[in-house]
Amino acid sequence: MSFDYDLVIIGAGVGGHGAALHAVKCGLRTAIIEAGDMGGTCVNRGCIPSKALLAASGRVRELQDQHHLAAMGIQVGQIGVDAGAIASHASNLVDKIRGDLTNSLKRLGVDTIRGWGKVAGPQKVTVKTDEGDRTLSAENIIISTGSIPFVPPGIEVDGKTVYTSDDAIKLNSVPDWIAIVGSGYIGLEFSDIYSALGSEITMIEALDNLMPGFDPEIAKIAERVLIKPRDIETHSGTLAKKVTPGYPVKIELADAKTKETIETLEVDACLIATGRIPYTKDIGLENVGIQTDRRGFIAVNDKMQVVLDNKPVPNLWAIGDATGRMMLAHAASAQGIVAIENICGREKVVDYNSIPAAAFTHPEISYVGLTEPSAQELGKNAGFEVASVKTYFKGNSKALAEGETDGMAKVIYRQDTGELLGVHIIGIHASDLIQEAANAIAERKPVQELAFNVHTHPTLSEVLDEAYKRAKVAV
Ligand SMILES: Cc1cc2nc3c(=O)[nH]c(=O)nc-3n(C[C@H](O)[C@H](O)[C@H](O)COP(=O)(O)OP(=O)(O)OC[C@H]3O[C@@H](n4cnc5c(N)ncnc54)[C@H](O)[C@@H]3O)c2cc1C
Repeated sequence: MSFDYDLVIIGAGVGGHGAALHAVKCGLRTAIIEAGDMGGTCVNRGCIPSKALLAASGRVRELQDQHHLAAMGIQVGQIGVDAGAIASHASNLVDKIRGDLTNSLKRLGVDTIRGWGKVAGPQKVTVKTDEGDRTLSAENIIISTGSIPFVPPGIEVDGKTVYTSDDAIKLNSVPDWIAIVGSGYIGLEFSDIYSALGSEITMIEALDNLMPGFDPEIAKIAERVLIKPRDIETHSGTLAKKVTPGYPVKIELADAKTKETIETLEVDACLIATGRIPYTKDIGLENVGIQTDRRGFIAVNDKMQVVLDNKPVPNLWAIGDATGRMMLAHAASAQGIVAIENICGREKVVDYNSIPAAAFTHPEISYVGLTEPSAQELGKNAGFEVASVKTYFKGNSKALAEGETDGMAKVIYRQDTGELLGVHIIGIHASDLIQEAANAIAERKPVQELAFNVHTHPTLSEVLDEAYKRAKVAV
């Protein structure tokens, strides 16, 4: 049977784009369907604009730290901040990267079809385009429709005074007082941006501890360096029960356990950063008998095949945020590559343990693998001892030279074999430093072997070198 395409991808975010590039490399005739902005969340509303805002606001923070600069013999005068120009820095970058991504698909011969794509049946896709409906046959279909911000019930978003990251990245204003609901990496990155630009912040977290996704020891240091010294007030174990937009924004705070109202805040703006939900409605899953889970995620196995009753559905794949497995840009494109490898008959699975993650705050936080509590639990169940070793940025020559000594690296490993289980870093350039640990986990290198790798002196990478050398393994 002949098909219009070897592969049709629904959704041109980083997941779909990564899959398309690899598909072309493997000789597959590929089409990609996009209903919104090419590049999806990461390029238009996520990684790229947020990192541009963080880069600019980070400079402002640095220049305002007179004490730090004076210690290096530098005096600066008045610092001027033009929020509109910072916003343009982000939007110009978005335009450039979106253009590059779109052109790369064209250059490689991927057909881009603009419109709403749907799975119409096995190996069949329909697209609602401005010119009418099109039906395509495809040997394989990849769903990479991504995710959208989750807004809890009781919260009304108007996009002006109460908004999600979709609007926050536009930096339409720098509010005097902003409440940030959620202390995950998105809430934390925006608290870094807003606090550098002069906002007073109230952070509201429903769970008992702030930054619940991080290793507890890292979260504690993060609280000490990213929250306490800044104009940030925190409420953990607290629910933003009702949020009403307006001037002022009214936020009814309740005890997260009893749900009883504690107080009402009146602030200038409120950012809702309470996670993301899959964008999987109305994409024709019912036409192939697939049901998503309660939250809307598409169930997949580690080969990225869509599964139904634990069995793979032939020729149907899903990747990226739509699957809910590590909702990160590089995870989405790694999943895309794995899907293509399997489509081409080369068995491959995603190794989630070796996929790093980072929050681009000042200083940064990064990790790969398990947190210490999860590693301990794994060790208890599997019958091995877990050990950890910590090193500090204040003992690192490069960090001292930079005057950036807040930070720690923690390496968690199996005491018996030295296998790396997790690495967590908070400190300057932590997002770059984590890659070496991620590669080591991917290559299953034990700490006692890593200790022989030679690191450049003086560099921040010696923080990890020292940890590997200090790790004590039983073998
Ligand atoms: C503020 C913020 C900051 C972030 N920072 C980082 C970061 O620093 N690092 C990182 O790794 N990750 C970051 N992320 C997460 C990252 O953006 C996502 O994990 C990533 O974009 C997921 O890629 P995806 O391809 O799965 O989905 P998406 O990027 O969401 O793309 C899906 C695409 O599919 C399209 N689509 C959906 N349905 C259809 C349909 N039926 N027909 C046609 N098209 C359709 C959508 O329009 C969209 O363009 C951030 C996210 C946010 C919100």
